[in-house]
Amino acid sequence: MDSLPLLADHPYASFLDQVEKPARYAGGEVGSVVKDWASVEARVCLAFPDVYDIGMSHLGFKILYKLLNDDPRTLAERCYTPWVDMEAQLVKRGLPLVSLESARPLRDFDVVGFSLQFELTYSNILTMLHLGGVPLRAADRGEDDPIVIAGGPTATHPEPIAPFLDAIVIGDGEEKATEVALAWARLKREGVPRRERLVAIARLGAVYVPSLYATRLDPDTGFEVVDRPLASGIPFPIERALVDLNKYPFPDESPTGGPEAIFDRMSIEIARGCTEGCRFCQAGMIYRPVRERDPEQIVDTVMRAVQRSGQDEVSLTALSTADVSCISPLIKKVTERLTAERISLGVSSLRAYGLEPDLLDELKRVRATGLTFAPEAGSQRMRDVVNKNVTEEQLLETAERVFSRGWGKMKLYFMIGLPTETDEDVRGIVETGARAAGAGRRAAGKGKPVDVTVSVSTHVPKPHTPFQWAAMDTLGEVGRKQRLLKDTVRPYRAVTLKTHEAHASVLEGIFARGDRPLADVLERAWRHGARFDSWEDKLDLAVWEEAFTHVGVDREKYLGTLPVTARLPWDHIDVGLEEGFLAKEYRKALQSRLSPPCGKVAGMFVHHTNLDDAKADARRLVCYDCGVACDMTQMREERLTFLDRLGAHRRSLPVLTDAGAAPPVAAAGPSGAPASDGGAERASVGGAERASVGGAERASVAATEPKSGDDGEPSRAEGEAPHRARRIAPAPKGRGGFRYRFRFEKAGPMALLGHLDVVRELPRVLRRVGAPMTYTAGFHPKPDMTFSPALSLGVISLDEYVDLRLERDLDPAALDALVAAMSAASPRGLVFSGAVKLGPEDPSLSKLIAGARYALAFARSAIGGDAEALLAARCSAALSAASLPIRREIDRLAKMVDVRQYLVRAEVGGPEVHAALARAGLVGDLVALEVEVDIRGSGAVKSSEVAAVITGEPGEAPGAITPPPHRAVRLQLFGRTSPAGSAAGERFSLFDLERARRVKPAPERTAALPLAADAE
Ligand code: SF4
Repeated sequence: MDSLPLLADHPYASFLDQVEKPARYAGGEVGSVVKDWASVEARVCLAFPDVYDIGMSHLGFKILYKLLNDDPRTLAERCYTPWVDMEAQLVKRGLPLVSLESARPLRDFDVVGFSLQFELTYSNILTMLHLGGVPLRAADRGEDDPIVIAGGPTATHPEPIAPFLDAIVIGDGEEKATEVALAWARLKREGVPRRERLVAIARLGAVYVPSLYATRLDPDTGFEVVDRPLASGIPFPIERALVDLNKYPFPDESPTGGPEAIFDRMSIEIARGCTEGCRFCQAGMIYRPVRERDPEQIVDTVMRAVQRSGQDEVSLTALSTADVSCISPLIKKVTERLTAERISLGVSSLRAYGLEPDLLDELKRVRATGLTFAPEAGSQRMRDVVNKNVTEEQLLETAERVFSRGWGKMKLYFMIGLPTETDEDVRGIVETGARAAGAGRRAAGKGKPVDVTVSVSTHVPKPHTPFQWAAMDTLGEVGRKQRLLKDTVRPYRAVTLKTHEAHASVLEGIFARGDRPLADVLERAWRHGARFDSWEDKLDLAVWEEAFTHVGVDREKYLGTLPVTARLPWDHIDVGLEEGFLAKEYRKALQSRLSPPCGKVAGMFVHHTNLDDAKADARRLVCYDCGVACDMTQMREERLTFLDRLGAHRRSLPVLTDAGAAPPVAAAGPSGAPASDGGAERASVGGAERASVGGAERASVAATEPKSGDDGEPSRAEGEAPHRARRIAPAPKGRGGFRYRFRFEKAGPMALLGHLDVVRELPRVLRRVGAPMTYTAGFHPKPDMTFSPALSLGVISLDEYVDLRLERDLDPAALDALVAAMSAASPRGLVFSGAVKLGPEDPSLSKLIAGARYALAFARSAIGGDAEALLAARCSAALSAASLPIRREIDRLAKMVDVRQYLVRAEVGGPEVHAALARAGLVGDLVALEVEVDIRGSGAVKSSEVAAVITGEPGEAPGAITPPPHRAVRLQLFGRTSPAGSAAGERFSLFDLERARRVKPAPERTAALPLAADAE
């Protein structure tokens, strides 16, 4: 039987607490926008084909969400792929997948817009359409169904997913999203038939409507290619949209305050596109030319974003941040502005060359235990093939610099399976790592630890790159090369080799260069259980094998070498490159010839960092006439303007100076990869974060959500070495500031958030209202706060506390105003209800809290009979018992807990309890218990355990007791005038400082409060 509803009126309310991370589905974050449906012309559901935790970090999603919601004519709501447990619940209950904001099914929207980031998320698109009540195939959709559109990097080669989409936006989405939504909604209101509406959408330009194009078999390859348009006036080929980024400032707010996202920071896109021309990198080709945002605009956005989000970390991102022309002065400017805010700044894309010694000195001050670089290939010949403009000398010099500064670890990312690769190149990967370790050993000095991790993934040839015609290594060949790597690494004790399972890469390779017949394979695999294929532990190869065999698709044709003259399944998409440019680059690759970065002076790896030098250098900028037709004069002038605006007039401008005054600085890789091997910090999680591209961040996939201490494996970085580190300037010794105790309620979506999420949220709330906290001392300063004992997921509380220190001295009136402001700046369900100032003599929460009162609410029907009488009898039986043992399992380890030792009182709840339940949002024909339990430093019991021993039935495992469905509300936390374990003393409020000061805590109460596992 289901629990009582937790979120009033939400269709998932009765079972949200039965799924993992229920807050993923609850919404209510700060910055989420719920608009009146009747007030807008077009309603868009932004659908992300992966789980909330990954989708929430996606820059393109944030851009479109803000843009559509800022426009009075449109609204945008969000939906993420439900995790498999939630999907099972929805299927079992016949419930639709709904949006986070208004809990409406996808089918109710005018537009459902998917973000196409990665080929292995396609099965999740089918899950979302199916659960959202939208027919899977575009051909099956009726007049009233929404238009299903998509955009993002894989939209440039969409044929395998095309039959499931009505329209695909090519290129930047900023203008097209609104244009398509409004046009579609208007035509629908006017009663225009669906097909005619689609033709009109196709005529908008930069929109590919697959159903309006005929296909044919290409005799050279056997691919089904797009042949011709079936309607007049629609584009062929379909050219991409390209926007002026400075007309669309990066959003300074987006939803925050839900469950932790994989990249839990405010990422700001500073440029789109890349100059480096790595030949394996699709983003570097399809988002040309590089477009830099106005640095003044960036600085303003950063400051507003910090204030609005309250986040303690900002990240400047681009495909290759190190190649943004004004990056050094920009970092300095942002750093200056963030001084004193205690906000750490992440900067992606530091790399092997141009890594200044003073920057390394700065980085060494962080907690990082190592640095990460991506040379991509193990020999100079191979690096020339892929156009990776880095030499071994630069790498070794970097290794020396890294290890001489005391780092003990360095991580290098490589690929195998690159075109023309020989066994020598493969062995060269390990040997490069070994030479880096050797250089590091010499630099580090005798006896110092040196460890170089060599991480090797498999190259996937991608459309619209010079390698689009190259063969992908077979699984057998990948396996052979991986064995070769393992054999080669054996003698090198300082080198740690990591290889990656290649099945997923091969599937990605098939769908990347796939054609329309793969849609049948996709649907078949999905119908037989394919879900979250990018998650290593979810990829079910047998399902895919069966689907390929059943549909009769030969996988090999997608993996072999393709004729350069053949028509390819993505040739109808024009990403702006001149015909022949990719082939020319491919030929140069096969001849191991480099193409130096474009948009820079020949021979220069980095841009001038000051106006004097930039003005003095009159040399031409490199250009290969790739087709996107950059205006080189304008490019040069814009760079001068940006340097001027940043005040970077003279040479030798330090990048990061004045360590004592500087705010925390982090350096992050283009993939957000941790600089610290072993990622010591929460925010430096692995998986992948790509720079925003085309209105859609090139996100990729974390197989699992990494935790602190995880290796933090990033997706491949194109073009430079990823770093992620974090420097927090040491706080002054001693505990400054002014001490306060705040009381708050935690209900609705907040009751579904884990304790650590709440702990994370509070400093953000305070930052949003401009009430900075003080920090603990030392090199790892943290906000100085102590919470009352953690609650289990789903338990509502009307009486929670936190002791914290603020920098400001506030009188009672100012404190009241702050409390009100904090509630207004909090996610839905987090309400602050009071605060008192504490003196140095006031005991901490951990010394004061002696017990808690709970209301345990049951549906009367779940108890049956005379529910009150039955529960009263159960209460007196429980209080008469000498012991009430129950089995408690933590991390699959069981122990017996005697609830009786903690149970002080249990009785049927009266009007006061029912009033509290109503306040907590629990209504209906309820019967309630009121229970009082001790909380001791040595332990406590959960409300569910109390409910179980009083009302439950024995479960299967020895000592297990299952309570009837119920909902718990913590009514009160209190101190007691008598020692813990005694009901004789009086309870007193934790705001009653007079009494609190008089109480001498019992010895066992002087210990820290028990952790979440032991207490609620
Ligand atoms: S037009 Fe020239 S400078 Fe611009 S992206 Fe192409 S090659 Fe680079």
